[in-house]
Amino acid sequence: MAVTQQLYQFVIDGREAGAVSGRTATVTNPATGEGVASVPVADEQDVQRAVMAARRAFDEGPWPRMPASERGRVLMRIAHLLRERVESLARAEVQHSGKPIRDARAEVLAAAECFEYYAGAATKWLGETIPVTDRGLDFTLREPIGVVGLIVPWNFPLMIASWKVAPALAVGNTAVLKPSSATPLTALALGTIALEAGVPAGVLNVITGPGTIAGMALVRDPGVGKIAFTGETTTGMEIMKAAADTMTRISLELGGKSPNVIFADADLARAIPGAAGAVFGNAGQDCCARSRVFIERSIYDRAVATLVEEARKLRTGDPLEEETQIGSLISRSHRDRVRGYVELGAQEGAEVLCGGRPPDDPALARGAYLLPAVLGRVGNAMRVAQEEIFGPVACAIPFTDEAEVVRMANDSPYGLSGSIWTRDIGRALRIARAIRSGVLSVNSSHSVHQEAPFGGMKMSGFGRELGMHALESYTEVKNVFIGE
Ligand code: NAD
Repeated sequence: MAVTQQLYQFVIDGREAGAVSGRTATVTNPATGEGVASVPVADEQDVQRAVMAARRAFDEGPWPRMPASERGRVLMRIAHLLRERVESLARAEVQHSGKPIRDARAEVLAAAECFEYYAGAATKWLGETIPVTDRGLDFTLREPIGVVGLIVPWNFPLMIASWKVAPALAVGNTAVLKPSSATPLTALALGTIALEAGVPAGVLNVITGPGTIAGMALVRDPGVGKIAFTGETTTGMEIMKAAADTMTRISLELGGKSPNVIFADADLARAIPGAAGAVFGNAGQDCCARSRVFIERSIYDRAVATLVEEARKLRTGDPLEEETQIGSLISRSHRDRVRGYVELGAQEGAEVLCGGRPPDDPALARGAYLLPAVLGRVGNAMRVAQEEIFGPVACAIPFTDEAEVVRMANDSPYGLSGSIWTRDIGRALRIARAIRSGVLSVNSSHSVHQEAPFGGMKMSGFGRELGMHALESYTEVKNVFIGE
């Protein structure tokens, strides 16, 4: 049966527009393999148009000059519209990403919360007065950077876009947002919602196209003052090199291979389901996935058996069904790559204790499904424990004592997230200090809070999103001295 494809457009300079070249691409639902929408494909000319519109809006338009409280009210209207349209946006999110509808709804609401937070933050981003030695008054101004390029991945499309758009706009920047080609629908919808909410023309432009062409053109455009990027570490490295030519500011949220450290004294009734949620949520396609589960040796066998039970309980299936907990992966090629890692683990000497293969249900045969896998007897030096798999694969690694687990947790190129499960508060604090990562949770799987800083160390990138910290990377500090 032919499926009607919805037609989407770029948002440039306050209007919907197609690509200059006239090219379009079909967006595919990874759960069914069917085309669900048509989007224009940006090349360098479209990027240039979008940057010029943003530049004009910054240099001549009202947005950077209006009172912060007024900008805040506009952001609040965006939040209202997101909340009003939660169902249609969540469905679009499911259609291009394959994620479960319940998760998609929660992410749209999280995006609304993000706009609400920065609506309030707009009037609370303060400068300082500084007691300098010279006679007079010294103070700092926090000024917007100008045009910012916002490049986002496919795993949490609208939510990560909001983490960048909301703080960037709150402090008076104008922006060009580029979502992943796999998941452009909700970012394009955000562009039109922003216009409806009263964001002036040119302040938020949204284009979509291949990263190597449209993304790179955005990074290299001399009209862009800052790039905020979320995606793979290797892409981040390319962006960092390219940005050097124009001294473009960058913040990079990159990959991870985070530890989940479970001590024998932990409340296992919470720790093990928590560990399963922290690695299998979003089908493991989560930069914060705690994919290395370190378990104290005295409870290793028991805890691994429970982790396997938890993995088997998770309901993999049609993402539009309310009970589904694990939907489709982003594409069949990505699913095959993840499967390849399960096979590699077995070759490296790990035991595949469950999952790691597509479900038997023939109704799911056309999707990119993979049952959650637990690999036992993993060594931290194995490739499956060192490389980001970005799929539903948990590596269970035994440890003997605090010193050994800290050494192994830090023996990773990445440093994004992590959890520690213990009832010993002293130990929790010692380990939270010792692990080199930007975000850590004790007796919890939550690592992202709208109000608190989020970001990585080491190869997981630099710069912080969320909370008031995010505003630092969207502003320049100017010092002004007035002599007496
Ligand atoms: P990706 O790097 O392939 O793509 C991310 C975005 O960058 C897309 O919009 C893409 O089109 C664009 N892009 C690709 N190549 C580019 C280039 N050369 N120049 C400019 N832009 C380019 O990443 P992905 O596969 O979409 O996302 C998965 C990755 O993102 C994982 O590694 C994951 O860990 C990471 N991630 C990190 C965080 C975090 O906050 N640290 C959050 C989510 C995802």
